[in-house]
Amino acid sequence: MLRRFRLEEPQSVAEVSELLGRFGESAKVYAGGTELLLAMKEGLVQYERLVNVKNVTGLNEITVTDGSVTIGALCTHHQLETSAALTEKLPALKKLEQNVANVRVRQVGTIGGNLCFAEPHADPGTLLIALGAKLITEKSSSKREIAAEDFFVDAYETALEADEVLTKIQVPVPAANGRSAYLKFGYLERPSVGVAIAFNLAVGCAGPAPRRVAEAEALLEGKSKDEAERNLAQAGAVAGRAAQAISDLHGSQEYKEHIVGVLLKRAFQRALS
Ligand SMILES: Cc1cc2nc3c(=O)[nH]c(=O)nc-3n(C[C@H](O)[C@H](O)[C@H](O)COP(=O)(O)OP(=O)(O)OC[C@H]3O[C@@H](n4cnc5c(N)ncnc54)[C@H](O)[C@@H]3O)c2cc1C
Repeated sequence: MLRRFRLEEPQSVAEVSELLGRFGESAKVYAGGTELLLAMKEGLVQYERLVNVKNVTGLNEITVTDGSVTIGALCTHHQLETSAALTEKLPALKKLEQNVANVRVRQVGTIGGNLCFAEPHADPGTLLIALGAKLITEKSSSKREIAAEDFFVDAYETALEADEVLTKIQVPVPAANGRSAYLKFGYLERPSVGVAIAFNLAVGCAGPAPRRVAEAEALLEGKSKDEAERNLAQAGAVAGRAAQAISDLHGSQEYKEHIVGVLLKRAFQRALS
């Protein structure tokens, strides 16, 4: 059962941050509520105050500049899956968004909520790491840019400070011949394994948090197509280990490591095509 809580309605990022700072662990940001309210109903977390960020203007816009797409943290998955800017500039992210959760969750769930909750079986973080995205966070008096690969610390744990708000995600657009792909596998509600290839190579969902795998990148980067293809099996094995796969309902550690290798081969072909 959902216990009583007080809803705060700030109008600016500075006010949100001030409330989070003032009320400490008894307050939490509330965006779409698709994760937060479920966790509260289940009694997994309890907050006396929810700080609704949906009235803060400017956090649900998608803008394109020369080299990058900037996505407001309050953009819903639905906004992203139907965005013309993503169709043109970041088709792999658009395709990923079309396959997040179900239509009800995509209507209200935000990309910011997905990233900040850091649920291990989530898709966007893995591709954002591969794309070299930066996460912009703000509090009352300061602003930070955090590389996506540094944002995810552990399961349900990010580099966000308690009074910080994720405001934007800045995603570099791959050059015209820059390839990118994200593939996932799973048979439960959420993905069991995800692999993304773009500027970087990243794995997610199998372990506690999405990770960049520089050692596997080195086996493919700057190589001829034939040489890279010869190295794919080794890169897959390296990426499988780097995923820090956990045996759980989604499959055994060995199985997930194997699937990382399979998805990497397919993602490589997808990115080339
Ligand atoms: C049935 C179901 C299936 C799902 N399947 C998938 C799937 O296949 N793939 C996938 O990737 N995800 C999946 N999800 C997760 C889904 O993407 C998230 O529930 C959604 O994006 C969370 O966004 P929200 O706005 O509802 O977050 P909320 O529930 O409002 O917040 C989640 C957390 O993030 C914090 N937060 C939110 N916004 C900010 C911000 N701007 N700054 C700081 N902190 C913030 C909140 O304090 C809270 O701790 C699924 C979820 C459900 C319920």
